[in-house]
Amino acid sequence: MTSRWRSIPKIDVHAHVVLHQRENTDLILNRPEQMMETMGKHNVKQAVVLPINSPKYFPLDPEQQSAWLRANNETQSQLMAESKGQFIAFADCSIDDEYEDADHVRAELACAIDTLGLRGLKIHPYNLGAPATDGRLRAWYEAATELALPITIHSNPTGYDPSFNGSAPSTIYRAFHALNEAITVAHLGGIAFLETMVGFGYVDLSYTLIMLADLYGISFCERLLRRIGIDRILFGTDIPLCTYEDYEPIFDAMALSADELERIAFVNAERMLTGQPPLDSE
Ligand SMILES: [Zn+2]
Repeated sequence: MTSRWRSIPKIDVHAHVVLHQRENTDLILNRPEQMMETMGKHNVKQAVVLPINSPKYFPLDPEQQSAWLRANNETQSQLMAESKGQFIAFADCSIDDEYEDADHVRAELACAIDTLGLRGLKIHPYNLGAPATDGRLRAWYEAATELALPITIHSNPTGYDPSFNGSAPSTIYRAFHALNEAITVAHLGGIAFLETMVGFGYVDLSYTLIMLADLYGISFCERLLRRIGIDRILFGTDIPLCTYEDYEPIFDAMALSADELERIAFVNAERMLTGQPPLDSE
């Protein structure tokens, strides 16, 4: 049977190119050539490759470890350059030591964009050990906003988070209130997915759509996406943690029009990547 979803050209806004496998972590090997081959098979024209705000994301030698943020951004830049336009790489983030200084943050982000050519910023509150509303993150939000950069924020609040490193959609909306509406809340807000209905900016479907399809069924997913607003929805997978095969039957089963599917598949993503808020928020 042919898949309607597969036949639509797509931009995956949440992908990871993983260069080393690490035991007992989320890091599953996904080399650039593997990633590009998978993209070709599934008609994914471009993938936004996101770092995870961790010194252990890429294999770094000991002297790079101390300046891991710059090293990670350089690797991101190299991956993008070698992908012939298929990867769109976002910058990494740190809030410790010198990055508590707003001028330093501004300079690092300017380097990531102007020198290394990166196209957005990824924030992972949980990995940074801080809630999305943490004061040290404000400098990153302001610098990215000044540069009209798209910002993706990890959002999968766990039920039990002893450090209260809040990344629920509501916490993210509070952090960006009156500052920037061109943000993307990742993973559909995770277990707090209902909060995305009353928020702003974009929502990427990665991981949580699969969970919701299993728990509540296809018709629920379809209604949820329309309630959030189709113009706010972005196709993202969190590959290699999830696969394109995980999403295909869900998109094929949802009764969405060809126009709605195209907006989710790439139209909204093209807009997000230019740093503009979703259409419906104007
Ligand atoms: Zn991810």
